[in-house]
Amino acid sequence: MPAATQDPLRKVDDVAGFADVPRAEKERLVAEVFADPRFADYLYGCYECGICVAVCPSARFYDFSPRRIAQAAGRRDVDLLYQQMQEDIWECSQCFSCLRCPRGNNPGGVITIMREVAVNNGMSSAREALEGYSRIIYKIMSTGTQVSPDMLQPDAFPDWGPEVQDVSENLALWRRALPPETHHTTSTGWSVAERTLIELYLIWLETGALDMIRQVDEGLHMILEEVMEDRLEEEGIER
Ligand code: SF4
Ligand code: SF4
Repeated sequence: MPAATQDPLRKVDDVAGFADVPRAEKERLVAEVFADPRFADYLYGCYECGICVAVCPSARFYDFSPRRIAQAAGRRDVDLLYQQMQEDIWECSQCFSCLRCPRGNNPGGVITIMREVAVNNGMSSAREALEGYSRIIYKIMSTGTQVSPDMLQPDAFPDWGPEVQDVSENLALWRRALPPETHHTTSTGWSVAERTLIELYLIWLETGALDMIRQVDEGLHMILEEVMEDRLEEEGIER
């Protein structure tokens, strides 16, 4: 593949994989990234020193590089940025170790913007990346807690490895082995006040987080709205 050797930053095969996406659509999405008011503070140019790659935990385990993101954004490479929004950006753990960049860049911040654009536009990568989290989002909104033990199922968390299978089969036993009585359940963590749940919902509503959820999972969004609107009504809260 001669083009690949000419430009090591570009994953030629992957970019070519999105050749069927209209150029205008790619430009529209990438333009949203550049138009974000944070962008100018997150990217000043890149020395290609590789310090961000050296400190990046995701770069150690995946075919991923914050330098590649910074370079693509710096060069305004629409095709490559589109490919990264469909693939690379979901490998970032958002730890922001890359803030050590001597040029003052924030590759993790650029990725945050790219993710937000991907989610707001319902890109297929965003739907896939967030698929396993719909149960968690529902759990947070309905109980105020995140993962409960009964959610440790291999189909929900395929990236957690084969041990999840063993754990999920013996959950009740594992929980009974824990001394505090409150840990003996597999379906709940702890009790959260109704008022806290409502506040959480209103924050998500006002900040646009619920709109983002609608873009990636319309069914989940409908359920959340239904559950929470009932709660608001019961509490006599008008929006
Ligand atoms: S924020 Fe992302 S890109 Fe930056 S160091 Fe962490 S994992 Fe790597
Ligand atoms: S640390 Fe900064 S200057 Fe160096 S490669 Fe990464 S983004 Fe570029």
